[in-house]
Amino acid sequence: MDPETPETPRTGRPLDRDSGKTLRAPHILAALMATYGGGHIELDHSSPFELLIATVLSAQSTDKKINEITATLFVKYPTPEAYLAVDEEELQDDIRASGFFRQKAKSIRGICQALIEDFDGEVPLSMAELVTLPGVARKTANVVLAGSAPEALLEDPDAGIAVDTHVTRLAKRFGFTRHDDPVKIERDLMRLFDKADYGPASLVIILHGRRVCDALRPRCGACIVEPLCPSSLIAGRRDKARQAKALGAID
Ligand code: SF4
Repeated sequence: MDPETPETPRTGRPLDRDSGKTLRAPHILAALMATYGGGHIELDHSSPFELLIATVLSAQSTDKKINEITATLFVKYPTPEAYLAVDEEELQDDIRASGFFRQKAKSIRGICQALIEDFDGEVPLSMAELVTLPGVARKTANVVLAGSAPEALLEDPDAGIAVDTHVTRLAKRFGFTRHDDPVKIERDLMRLFDKADYGPASLVIILHGRRVCDALRPRCGACIVEPLCPSSLIAGRRDKARQAKALGAID
């Protein structure tokens, strides 16, 4: 945590894990931002299109595996047209290692078709347009905006916070939400953070979930925000993400 213990504004009492979430949230975010350098997307990409494809591929896989796949995939398929110029079976073979390759190949080709027909082959950088792409929901759209167009995210009234399995788990452990529905979790988080922090908040929470706050074995003793976490196991607290086992540990 910060060298100086944060205080409750009105009473001057030190903030702790039992303080209100609106008081704890900015300090937890600041500590995570300092720890993870503001956050970054671990999916390799050089354009919004590549990030969109990588994000679709990353479902039920790891970023490391997806980066291995996309190192050659993005060379072979530089445009939406390229994904439609081969048989679907060939694309399936090229992404087989990502898992669920038949479904993902179909999704990617559907997205590419829509990009060509509706957006001149370019990825639109607004939430309202991104979610018109087949199979693209708010999580993927928020990832693309946070990773490729942070300025557009700031001005987009519909943009929010990408809620994946890590954000879901940590939002519960921090006591920021009681919901299971990603849209409701996102809404709860959006109330706690400034819009300028929507993109970074998701990125640093994901990194903390991967590196410290594991689904099954959170390393509370090594956790920078332990003093403000109401789920700290070393403080003898109950894990507020009781469904963590069901959520699993993959992306
Ligand atoms: S104290 Fe434990 S449960 Fe809370 S965020 Fe840190 S690692 Fe996760």
